[in-house]
Amino acid sequence: MLELTKIEAFYGPIQVLFGVDLEVKENEIVALLGTNGAGKTTILRVISGILRPKSGEVTFKGEPLLEQTPPEIVRRGIVQMPGGRGVFPGMTVYENLEIGGFLYGKDKARRKHMIEKTFEFFPMLAERRRQVAGSMSGGQQQMLTLAKSFIMDPDLLLIDELSLGLAPKVVDDLIEILRRFNEQGVAMVLVDQHVDLALEVASRAYFIERGEIRFSGPSEDLKGRDDLLRSVFLRGESAAV
Ligand code: ATP
Repeated sequence: MLELTKIEAFYGPIQVLFGVDLEVKENEIVALLGTNGAGKTTILRVISGILRPKSGEVTFKGEPLLEQTPPEIVRRGIVQMPGGRGVFPGMTVYENLEIGGFLYGKDKARRKHMIEKTFEFFPMLAERRRQVAGSMSGGQQQMLTLAKSFIMDPDLLLIDELSLGLAPKVVDDLIEILRRFNEQGVAMVLVDQHVDLALEVASRAYFIERGEIRFSGPSEDLKGRDDLLRSVFLRGESAAV
């Protein structure tokens, strides 16, 4: 469904991606893992059309994507869930979801339909539709961020750091929702510091180091690659001290 070929990307004069090849098949969940600053978010930016690579190809459903604007890429079915807090704290849950669907423009009926469909996935948000987002817990706000991504009816969801700073129970609830999205046919690229979790959810994984893909294959196989995963685990442990 999505194919990146030989992507070379720069920030100014600094090269951060070196010949990256990456593929996501229909309905697949792919984990994109790596150390800090390896280039994971940059890959997501390239897919979303926010960062134009210097060379390489991106195709989605067989069509080239690099000439498309970010809104057009969303309309074609690729939605990126932002890392960190992705809600407007002063607005209600409902208003946040309306903004999530702003690309529907004048098609208010479609937007309303998608908001109601989203509430079926997130009954907790339906109950709180009039609550100001900033008054909810961190986990509930992350739930709302995920719900906002769903409003645009994605075929491919790019998720940057779902679990960061959240309690395990909250993360479990979010993962359960991702699995249900996936049952509805939504493919995903999952970037997460929480390696065990990402490898549990994804069937296939990539490991990136300093802008180069060092591993691609079944998640099960990456679980055994201590030589690669060690650097991520070590960093996680030092962060916890
Ligand atoms: P992290 O887990 O820390 O977010 P990452 O794998 O997502 O890491 P990227 O955010 O893609 O890494 O960053 C790749 C490299 O590009 C890093 O060296 C980073 O410092 C650099 N970088 C990221 N964004 C910019 C930017 N806007 N301008 C310049 N350099 C950037």
